[in-house]
Amino acid sequence: MIDTNLPNFESDLREVENMFCDTDAVKIRHRFTEGENKFVNTVTVNGKVYAYGNLVKGDLDELVKKRLVKRYAKLSIYKALAKFFEKELPWGALTGIRPTKLAYQQMEESGEFEEFFTDVMKVSKEKTDLTKKVIESQKGIYQKNDDNTDFFAFVPFCPSRCKYCSFISADIKSARAHVDDYVDALIDEIEFSKRFIKKLRSIYVGGGTPVALSNAHLEKVLRAIEKINSGVEFTVEAGRPDCINKENLKILKDYGVTRICINPQTFSNKTLELLGRKHTAEEVVEKFYMAKDEFIVNMDLIAGLNGESQEDFENSIRKSIELSPDNITVHTLCIKRGSYLAEEEHRLSGEAVDIMVDFAHSQLEANGYSPYYLYRQKNMAGNLENVGYSKAGKACVYNVDIMEEIASNVACGANAISKRVFNGGERIEREASPKDVITYLNKLEVIKERKTKLFL
Ligand code: SF4
Repeated sequence: MIDTNLPNFESDLREVENMFCDTDAVKIRHRFTEGENKFVNTVTVNGKVYAYGNLVKGDLDELVKKRLVKRYAKLSIYKALAKFFEKELPWGALTGIRPTKLAYQQMEESGEFEEFFTDVMKVSKEKTDLTKKVIESQKGIYQKNDDNTDFFAFVPFCPSRCKYCSFISADIKSARAHVDDYVDALIDEIEFSKRFIKKLRSIYVGGGTPVALSNAHLEKVLRAIEKINSGVEFTVEAGRPDCINKENLKILKDYGVTRICINPQTFSNKTLELLGRKHTAEEVVEKFYMAKDEFIVNMDLIAGLNGESQEDFENSIRKSIELSPDNITVHTLCIKRGSYLAEEEHRLSGEAVDIMVDFAHSQLEANGYSPYYLYRQKNMAGNLENVGYSKAGKACVYNVDIMEEIASNVACGANAISKRVFNGGERIEREASPKDVITYLNKLEVIKERKTKLFL
């Protein structure tokens, strides 16, 4: 709880507070003076008082005013806490919105975003430059058209649970009794959902680990998707190298998959064991070479894994660059409640993770990779970001559409969230399916009805 007279924005304000401390140290009082268009916020941190005022020219409609009330209140809390703790954060007061999305909005309104980022939102020059590079890389892919549709299917099974994972994904061995029914329901939903696709941009089968399915199940799912594929980018999140083999790679190829993800997360065998990943770094290399001539490959790495040194992380970056996949995504460890690592000690400091992320950025850029999407989540180590890098011309359309929320998404399966965009993403309506497999199976008909309401 944060002590505020803006109860509607309580959770947004708490997000800023949580970037500095997790105690209830902050009190904020907001006042707006009509006529003057003056937003005044008085923030008290452990008894110390800070006051900030912002004047805005011109007429304000209710929607804009509401947006500014929230923005200036968050900013005031950020400034007060930065002063109190004598600490600036890389993304300043930016929370709750993707940096690129805000930058695009700002460019539409005023033709530029950089000054707004650095001077108003207190974003560092380095992160502002990163945002600019991402926007630059998205040229030719970023496209606002309400007919644009991406298609997603979710497979909620994995060969085993990784300790840092908070996704809804079951160990396929313990979920064995439901896999048959799940595959049939997913196919049913895929076939039903074809009607909602307007202009197909990309297909993504994610998880979980889709290739944890038996070859027969995998083939069934891909056969259903093949019927909607008009030759667009088609990604399967192969994910765990311990599930990838020549047979399932051939199936993916036969059904038109163009990209796969092979995710090392780290090239340290010691860390992989600690994470419960059940594969080695050598296996990543072996599976990468098995796939690289047939698919565009994305590799995911994580900065800030418990117990990893700077040297471990640098080694992972170097090994990835040596392999030279088309895409490398560098995630910052995000500890969510419910994941085993949330309970663990030996967490790295934000500063240590910051150095890792900087290293990744400079090495990847020096080796021909450009950042092309970025997003932030709550509880990220060091309040940093996840960045997807790609070689020229190899950026993933699906990732851009998802991050920028500029295309509708017809999503199938448990835990899938379908999304319809209006006016280039100004308004978005969503329909989420139940996370749990059994509830999904029982509610399939209701899900179909709700989807029909969303898209037709
Ligand atoms: S493979 Fe991915 S989805 Fe599956 S348990 Fe590990 S992190 Fe979670």
